[in-house]
Amino acid sequence: MGKAKRRIGPSAAVRIRAMKRDRFRCTYCGIPGTDAELEVDHIIPVADGGSHHISNLTTACRKCNQAKGTKRIEPTYASEPDKPDGFVGLFVHFMKDGWIQYQGRIIGREEDTYLVQFYSCFDGTPNIVKPYLASEIRKANLYANHEEWLAAFDREWELRMEIREARSAEARRRRTCQRSTE
Ligand SMILES: [Zn+2]
Repeated sequence: MGKAKRRIGPSAAVRIRAMKRDRFRCTYCGIPGTDAELEVDHIIPVADGGSHHISNLTTACRKCNQAKGTKRIEPTYASEPDKPDGFVGLFVHFMKDGWIQYQGRIIGREEDTYLVQFYSCFDGTPNIVKPYLASEIRKANLYANHEEWLAAFDREWELRMEIREARSAEARRRRTCQRSTE
């Protein structure tokens, strides 16, 4: 008694998984965003007994989440990737240590595997096609839209160049310091 009511939500990992499943888009209005811009919303409100399980979570932008409040609205987007061919046609970045490792497009499905056409990160030419399980596809960054996929790659490329530039500036500075103390 007298203890402040704590707001317990889904874990960060579950939030991210829900956002990835929903392809980082608000499931109510479709607007894309980053994990910092988007929120996860309970389909059945917690007050009505809804759980924090991923099946009861959907991605929402702040505006839609606030407008919705605790009303129950069926999201239109969240269930799409669960359709048998839900991933086919999507663009994908397979990530490693937070960076894009491979880029491709999901071009088909054979039983429980999806076929991914890979494209060279250097010049964009198509190379191998490899099968992936849906569970592996879910861990990747998915894009419904070709422009968003390209833009994400460009953003990372710019960031890599900035880091590279900062590192060589640092190396030049060190060399200058060394020379001046010799
Ligand atoms: Zn929205």
